[in-house]
Amino acid sequence: MLPRAAALPPGAAAGPGRRSPPPAGLPREPPPRGRAMAQRGAEAAATAAAEEEEAAAAEGPEGGSRRWGAQHAGARELAELYSPGKRVQEWISVILCFSLICFNFYNLLSYLRLEHTPSVIVGIFAGVITADFLSGLFHWGADTWGSVELPIVGKAFIRPFREHHIDPTAITRHDFIETNGDNCFMTLVPLANMAYKFVSFSPEALYETCPWECYVFALIIFITMTNQIHKWSHTYFGLPRWVIFLQDWHVILPRKHHRIHHVSPHETYFCITTGWLNYPLEKIGFWRCLENIIQGVTGEKPRADDMKWAQKIK
Ligand SMILES: [Zn+2]
Ligand SMILES: [Zn+2]
Repeated sequence: MLPRAAALPPGAAAGPGRRSPPPAGLPREPPPRGRAMAQRGAEAAATAAAEEEEAAAAEGPEGGSRRWGAQHAGARELAELYSPGKRVQEWISVILCFSLICFNFYNLLSYLRLEHTPSVIVGIFAGVITADFLSGLFHWGADTWGSVELPIVGKAFIRPFREHHIDPTAITRHDFIETNGDNCFMTLVPLANMAYKFVSFSPEALYETCPWECYVFALIIFITMTNQIHKWSHTYFGLPRWVIFLQDWHVILPRKHHRIHHVSPHETYFCITTGWLNYPLEKIGFWRCLENIIQGVTGEKPRADDMKWAQKIK
């Protein structure tokens, strides 16, 4: 649910685990030599083609002359706001989150019984749907309201959403920590709460609540995975076969499906975990309805800050 983006300006030092994109107009790879190099050349060409395709998809009817991508002035400025302090927060979140996931998964398995099967299946399915809805709600909120200038949350959590719209493929250059740090941070409290139950509740109580905890656990896992799934939906080369299989069968967010969101002004298809809810929510005008209510109450215009960044040319 959290797009993370970090295009660096040409020539800027890359942060830990990151590569800076080459300036526009320069080849992305040195001229290939031999078969291996030729293959790398083809890979680079495929990536560049996919990026161009994505940049084109990101352009709205009014965006014809605008330069989207890593060289966009707004994208460069936003990328520079990715701080070392933020990087440390992401590392701590990822380590704590995955430790708690292992602990809770082990405990959950030890309380599962065969008779739980039907309710566990329903619980997992409901957990995935809830995660998809929450990914949409959070994504919509960050895309539509607030600004990068807001204290604390602006730079830490809204900035990546702004950057993702003007440089959609920056996310594909992020390492695991930068991609997943924010989502891991968000699931820490429910994961800690679940771990607390496993150490303090009686075995009888844990047996009783097992299906509910399966629902919560599936919800947490899919929220944690959302930005990785989102990154895959922007990746056009080198995806593992099983990821492509899951995308093709729409178990996780498919690439074509997510492209609908990336058409300016980015006002629909906000769900980015499985994308299952995008069509029904669009059909009932869910996001438009929420926007009208909020605009009526606060007077704020939806996506004003997003538009401001998109129009930045220097
Ligand atoms: Zn968006
Ligand atoms: Zn995206």
